[in-house]
Amino acid sequence: MTTELIRQAAADLACSGYAIALTGAGISTESGIPDFRGPSGLWTKNPAEERKAYERYEKFLTDPGGYWEDRLNAPTPLGDLGKMKPNQGHEALAELERMGIVKTVITQNIDNLHQRAGSRHVLDFHGNAFRLRCASCGRRYELPEFDLEGLRRDRRLPPLCGACGGIVKLDVVHFREPIPADVIEQSLTETEKCDVMLVCGTSAVVYPFASLPETVREQAANSRGKVIIEINAEPTPLTQRRISDYLIQGKTGQILPAIVAEIRRMESPAL
Ligand code: NAD
Repeated sequence: MTTELIRQAAADLACSGYAIALTGAGISTESGIPDFRGPSGLWTKNPAEERKAYERYEKFLTDPGGYWEDRLNAPTPLGDLGKMKPNQGHEALAELERMGIVKTVITQNIDNLHQRAGSRHVLDFHGNAFRLRCASCGRRYELPEFDLEGLRRDRRLPPLCGACGGIVKLDVVHFREPIPADVIEQSLTETEKCDVMLVCGTSAVVYPFASLPETVREQAANSRGKVIIEINAEPTPLTQRRISDYLIQGKTGQILPAIVAEIRRMESPAL
């Protein structure tokens, strides 16, 4: 069954005019970064972490200096992301981009692993833990542009924006925080353009991200020829509500490379 679906996905991708990939925490679990809601997820194992996640944005709004103290003590609950390495799933998506098939990856992940695997067109829907962003004007900064430890030592936290003087936060979209307008706009443009959407390793319960496949399904009801392929360890609401055309159940680190290999085989049948 899985082999047939891998062939189907390879054929759908090879025939596509504009394929995009959506990814979630599941694609990074094989790099050692826990997801939230999978069977070994951070929140599945420790529900108190979920409550803390909802408090982070409130803390930034009410006490930005304290927010930064907390961030410097533990930037994210996901571990030391700088030490994690891309896995075969990230690498396969980068390869699909080099093959001219996948045009953009829209990721919920903040771990920067798609970029490190070689994907060039990445939209970080929920931000990126290696950048900072001004909460007023939206200007982004690379982490080394601020001496955060120095600011802490001098009791000058939070960092302030060089462009507008606004308060700078981590460029990670916390729960209850609005998604930056530029990212929403670009994600909707890519979603409208695509004819194949590959949805990898997401429970598809966080909105507005989960509305992107819904948009494609609505468009497909009006104009034929849009395909949504899910690759996930377990069925999701996209599977259950028949928003995806089919689910390839299993690990992204195994299935994505198998799809790449199948596309290559189709292109060179003698191999
Ligand atoms: P989620 O935890 O809600 O769901 C992950 C899904 O992936 C689950 O359905 C799980 O069964 C599946 N999965 C786990 N490992 C898999 C694998 N190897 N192959 C295929 N499927 C696998 O994650 P989400 O939907 O991305 O939502 C969580 C939110 O938390 C996101 O908004 C994201 O920003 C953030 N987050 C990010 C990271 C990261 O940057 N790596 C990690 C955890 C959470």
